[in-house]
Order: sequence, then structure tokens, then C-alpha cells
Amino acid sequence: MSPVRQPIKRRITVPVAIGPVTVGGLAPILVQSMTNTDTADVDATVRQVADLARAGSELVRITVNHESAARAVPAIREALDAQGCGVPLVGDFHFNGHRLLTDYPECAQALAKYRINPGNVGTGEKKDSQFATMIELACRYGRPVRIGVNWGSLDQDLIVRLMDDNARSAAPREAEQVMHEAMVQSAISSAERAMALGLPKDRIILSCKMSGVQDLIAVYRKLAERGDYALHLGLTEAGMGSKGIVGSTAALAVLLQEGIGDTIRVSLTPAPGEARTREVVVAQEILQTMGLRAFAPMVTACPGCGRTTSDTFQHLAQNIQGYLREQMPAWRTQYPGVETMQVAVMGCVVNGPGESKHANIGISLPGSGERPSAPVYVDGEKVTTLKGEGIAEQFKRMVDEYIEARYGQGPRAGN
Ligand code: SF4
Repeated sequence: MSPVRQPIKRRITVPVAIGPVTVGGLAPILVQSMTNTDTADVDATVRQVADLARAGSELVRITVNHESAARAVPAIREALDAQGCGVPLVGDFHFNGHRLLTDYPECAQALAKYRINPGNVGTGEKKDSQFATMIELACRYGRPVRIGVNWGSLDQDLIVRLMDDNARSAAPREAEQVMHEAMVQSAISSAERAMALGLPKDRIILSCKMSGVQDLIAVYRKLAERGDYALHLGLTEAGMGSKGIVGSTAALAVLLQEGIGDTIRVSLTPAPGEARTREVVVAQEILQTMGLRAFAPMVTACPGCGRTTSDTFQHLAQNIQGYLREQMPAWRTQYPGVETMQVAVMGCVVNGPGESKHANIGISLPGSGERPSAPVYVDGEKVTTLKGEGIAEQFKRMVDEYIEARYGQGPRAGN
């Protein structure tokens, strides 16, 4: 039983090494995230980067927006290293990146990658020279660059020029199509300029983020047609809660299914007090539910219906899913392969036994009117029936025992 499958047609891009990880080529699609702390606040930023990395973020981007932030970056790197967190840090630069990278070489060296937004590198004559400075520094320090176009800050000179050309053309296109073309041209022409300045293609990642699902899909299809650059995918300003999750999933799933995308970010707006790590979990779940990667055991649970008179199975499903995810940082090394495990927690006899048999381990809880007993299935076979008050705890113990037996490194490994 392996839920991990290759995409139908994975587009092969030029691989880009970023510290210990690789984006593109044959590398797995990576999950990244971004902090929302003030980077100048070293303690808060270290804490959040470590949380994101623990949740599974494989790259973490931090804002480098002013001098105090640039000064803090080496201390952040050092503190993370001291606690054994080697996640690569990406510096997010807008407007003054050329100056900060020049004035703070320790910051330039502590970062594993620089994000440059071609729409925010300067205006007029300064634009070219400031972009060139950042690329030259990337060359000097051997760092890759993400040329990250965002439609909220698209190069205005470019869009005006393309709109004018379009207005003069014999067969003008819709404004929306011109906008898409401007996004793609901004990314590709900036990448070509960076290469002309000496940055090799295997140090360039492109992104063209938009906030509309159909816009994002259209732009990335174009981008993928026009070259083999490694691509970072994300719906920008996806929003809060289910809207952000649904929008990101809808857009990314279509592109990933077409083999487009080497690294993803889900740009969720956290609710006040909500953990920043939610965006990492959602990104992982997109990849895992599509069968592209596995990060943590998944729980299959039914939605419940009139056959369930209590919320016992909802509590059990939530409890087990939370427990499995919490254990993953330790289990990743202790139980190789456990991330592909499927657990089923079902509400009644209608689909409970069938779904449980498909899982590695599954339980079918009693629905209303059923006897208060819960059959448990392991690798497709019914092994026991749990009864009484402590069904949840007994099942959790069985999950632990299954993991130890199936994925443990001891004498039973490989069972
Ligand atoms: S498995 Fe039972 S409780 Fe769950 S949705 Fe189906 S019929 Fe309802």
C-alpha cells in the first residue's frame, strides 16, 4: 500500500541547490513558508522559524526590510544552527535590497537565497543598476535567487508598454491576457538579464504570483511553456481560513497535476492567535492527498450522519490525527516510512469495516443502535473488537504498537 505516486507528467526543470536542499530537477516538490515576525526581533523570529521547520517547512523566508532586520539575520542563523535547525533562510527584499546586501555582507552570507521582486527594485534609471547590484552580490556569494513577480507590484513600465502595444495591434487581446503576458515577460526577461550578468540558470527560480485561481493557472502554464526554470508556486494573498485553503488547493492542484511546480507555499492569513504553521500543514496535505509526497500518517474519517448519535468518532479522529502529526519530528528518523501510513476512524458499520480494511489500521465505531463495540482491522484483517469506556485509549495503543512493529528498526522491522 503506497499512497505516494509520481505526477502524471512531471515537468523537469533545472535543479537549483539552496544550502542542503534542491528545488527542481528530480527533487521532491518542497514546502516553504514565511515568517510574520519582525525580523529585527531575533528571539521571536528564531522561535517562529524553528516552529515552521519542525512542522515540515523545508525553506523559510524572512523579511529583510531595513537595517535592523539585516543586522539580525546572522544572529538568527547562528541561533538556529545552535539548536540544530539547519533550515535554509531566504531573504525577502523589496526597494532597498541592493543596499542592505551591500552594506551587510554577513546578512548576505547568512541567507541561503535571495528573493528579488522585479517590480520593486527601483524606478527609472536606478532600476537596472539596483537589480544588477543584487545579482552581482548573489554571484559573489554563490547564492541562488528567486525572481518573484507579484501582480500587486508588477513592473508598471512593462505593463504600460504592453497595454500600449496591445491597443495599437490589429487584433487586441483582452486586458487580462495582457496582464498575464506582462507577468511572464517580467519574470523571463529578469531571468535573462540575471544570466547576462553572470548568474547561472541553476541559481534561478521563478514565480509569478497572482491572487485569482484562474489567473494563476493561466500564468504558470505560460511560464512553463517558455523555459525550464525551476518554479515556485503559490496563490498570493490567498486569504483566511477555508477560503485561503480552498483557493490555494484549487490552483496548486491543477498545476501540480500538470507537472508544473517545484516548490510551493500556501499564503494563508492566520486568524488572530492561530499558529503560523497552519500554512505548512496545508501545503503538505495538498502534496500528500495528491499522492506526490508523504509527510505524516493520514487519517481517513467519515463525515458522520444520522447514524452517529455522539461525536465520539469525531473526537477520536481529531485526537489520532493530532497525535500522529505531533510525533512526526521524532518518528521521521525512528520509524522510516511511517509517513505513508493510513489510519481509518469510521462512524458506523455502513462503511466502517470496508474503509478500515483499506487502511493500515482502522476502527469502526458503533453507530446509533449498534452494539457498543468497535472492530479494529490491521492490514485488512479484523484483529479484535474493542469495548467499554476506554476504546479511544485502547485504539491509540494499538496504533503505537502497529507503528513499532511495522516501521521500527528492531528485529521486527520490515514486517
Ligand atoms: S460510515 Fe456510517 S456514520 Fe459514517 S457517514 Fe457513513 S453511514 Fe454515516
